[in-house]
Amino acid sequence: MIETERKIIEEDRPVAKVCDRCSLKITEDDWMEWAEFMHWSKIGGYGSIWGDDTEIRLDLCQRCQKELFEDFIQIDLREESDGEESVVVS
Ligand SMILES: [Zn+2]
Repeated sequence: MIETERKIIEEDRPVAKVCDRCSLKITEDDWMEWAEFMHWSKIGGYGSIWGDDTEIRLDLCQRCQKELFEDFIQIDLREESDGEESVVVS
């Protein structure tokens, strides 16, 4: 037998995302933009130009991602046929 009790758990969940470059603010209602938003974070290690043990974060909308990274980003087009996924390198 498993005895249970009911608990109310409070948690912080994101309700909006704001682009650090253009300040575009989106909510989950705009699910396409929500899904394509980029969140990146990293903790600098020994020798980091940001400082040892420094946390750096970046949030970008997809338009800013393209404007900033399109000259050097690596892009693979994924195609699906017969249930098998393959990567087409251009
Ligand atoms: Zn942006």
